[in-house]
Amino acid sequence: MTTFQNTEKTNGSLDTPPRSPVGDDKPRTHSHKESWNQIRAALESTITIPTSPTGESHNTIEVPAIRSPVADADKFRLSLSAAPSMKERRVSRNSFGAALPIPRSKRQSRLSNVTLPDTQAALGQPTRPGMPPIQPTREFLAARVQDVFSDKVKAAKNMAFVFDIDGVLVHGDRLIPEGKRVLEILNGDNELGIKIPHIFLTNGSGKPELARTQQLSKILQNPVSTDQFIQSHTPMRALAEYYGTVLVVGGEGYRCREVAEEYGFKDIIVPNDIIAWDPSVAPYRVFTEEERATARPRDFSKVNIEAIMVFSDSRDYATDLQIIIDLLRSKNGRLGTVAEDPVSERIPIYFSQGDFLCPTEHPIPRMSQGAFRIGLEAMYKSLTGVDLERVVYGKPELATYKYADEVIASWMEQIHGEERVPANVYMIGDNPASDIVGGNMYGWNTCLVRTGVFQGGENDEENPANFGVFKNVLEAVQTAIRKELGEDFRFEWDDRVNPVLHGEAATSSAIE
Ligand SMILES: [Mg+2]
Repeated sequence: MTTFQNTEKTNGSLDTPPRSPVGDDKPRTHSHKESWNQIRAALESTITIPTSPTGESHNTIEVPAIRSPVADADKFRLSLSAAPSMKERRVSRNSFGAALPIPRSKRQSRLSNVTLPDTQAALGQPTRPGMPPIQPTREFLAARVQDVFSDKVKAAKNMAFVFDIDGVLVHGDRLIPEGKRVLEILNGDNELGIKIPHIFLTNGSGKPELARTQQLSKILQNPVSTDQFIQSHTPMRALAEYYGTVLVVGGEGYRCREVAEEYGFKDIIVPNDIIAWDPSVAPYRVFTEEERATARPRDFSKVNIEAIMVFSDSRDYATDLQIIIDLLRSKNGRLGTVAEDPVSERIPIYFSQGDFLCPTEHPIPRMSQGAFRIGLEAMYKSLTGVDLERVVYGKPELATYKYADEVIASWMEQIHGEERVPANVYMIGDNPASDIVGGNMYGWNTCLVRTGVFQGGENDEENPANFGVFKNVLEAVQTAIRKELGEDFRFEWDDRVNPVLHGEAATSSAIE
C-alpha cells in the first residue's frame, strides 16, 4: 500500500491539469486550473490506495479523480445520530424539541394482563385445576410482615427499577443468571415478601409485545407482563390516532404489520404490498412466490399514504430506501408522483429508535436503524437539497421516558393499588449512549453494568452513570435496595417467619 502522492510517476501525473473531453487537447483555463489545484490538494490527503503496477507492460492507466475522496456524508448527517452524548448535545428537531405523541395514561386494555395467568404453566410449575393458587400462606405471612415493617414497605413502594433487557438481563436468547435472581428478589423473594415495582424498557422491536414478553418470561423464568414492558415502537401506538393509511417498514416477514394492527392502525401497507402491485418499483428485488401470495397489492396510484413508520430494522435496505424516498418526494404520499416543492407536500416519517449499532452474536456490532436512517437522510438531501425532518422514538428520547412514567404508575396500581410514580427510579442499562444518557437527562438514578455494550474503565466518560458502574445487574439492584431500605436488608424470603411472635426480629430470627 502507498499514499496517492507517491504514485505520480504513473501515467496520470498529478502535475498535469485534467484535459477537456475528446477533441480539445488544450489545458483548461486558469479558473479550471485553480479548482484543479483544490481538487489535487484534497486528493493529496493520507488516503491509501493499492500500489500502482510498475513497468511498461501493465494494462491499466490511472486517471486522477475529479471527485474528492473525502465522503461528503458528514454534512448530510443530522445530529443526535450515532452517539448522543451529554457532552456534545446539539440542537436538532429531534433533540427533545419536536413533539412525539405517546399514548395517554393507562395502557390499552386489549394488551393488558396477558402473561400473568399463564406464567405458572409457562414456567413448568405445577398447577392445580380448581384449587386455590399455591403458596397462600406466603401471601398471608408477607402481609403480616409488611404490617409490622411499615417504614420499609413505604420505602419499597417509593422506588422502582427500569431495566434495559439486552446486555443486562439476557444476551439474545441466553439468560444472564443474575438477571433471573434479580427478578426473583423483586417479585417477592426478599425479607418483606414484597413486590418491588419494575418495568422493562428496550430499544428492541419487530414483534408484538405479547410475543416478546412470553419469550422473555421463559428465558428469565419469571413472569413478565405486557403491562410492564416497553419496546421501541410501543409508544408509537399513539400515532394510530393521527394517521389513517401508513407505510410500515422493517422486521421479519409481516410481523410489523401485526404490530401495527394491534396498535390500532386502520390501513397498513408494507413494502411487499407495493412490490406485488408494481415490481418495477424495486428493480433489484427478488420477489418470491410466497411473498407475492401473502402480499396485499392494490392500485397504489390511487392511495395517499399519510405517514411512514419505520418500526424495526430493514431486511432489504435497497427496496425499503427506494420506496421511502419515492414517498418522501411524492405529492402527499401518492406513489408515482413527484412533488415540485419537496417540503410542502412531504409526508412525515417516524423511526422507532436511533441506535447506530447493536450487539449480536457476531463479534463486531451490526448496523441498526440509526445507520439506515443516516443513509436515508444523506440520500434525501442529495436528491432534494433539503434536510429531512423526521421523528425518532426510543431511548434516549424524552417521549420514551415520559411514557415509561405512565407505565410505572399503572404497574404500581396493579401491584400495590397506588397509581403514582415512585420518587426513586433506578435505570439499569449497559449502553451509556441510550440507557444512561436518557436516564440522566430524565432525572433518574442511573446504573451502568459491565455485562453488555459498556467495556470501559471506572465510568463512561461521555455519559457517566450517576449511581455507579456495577459488575452485573444483581450488584446494581442490591446496592440500590440497600440504599433505600437499609444496609441490612435481606434478599430472601423466609417461610418460617412469624411476624406476630417475632415481628421485631423477623429478619434475623425465624421459628422452626
Ligand atoms: Mg442493552
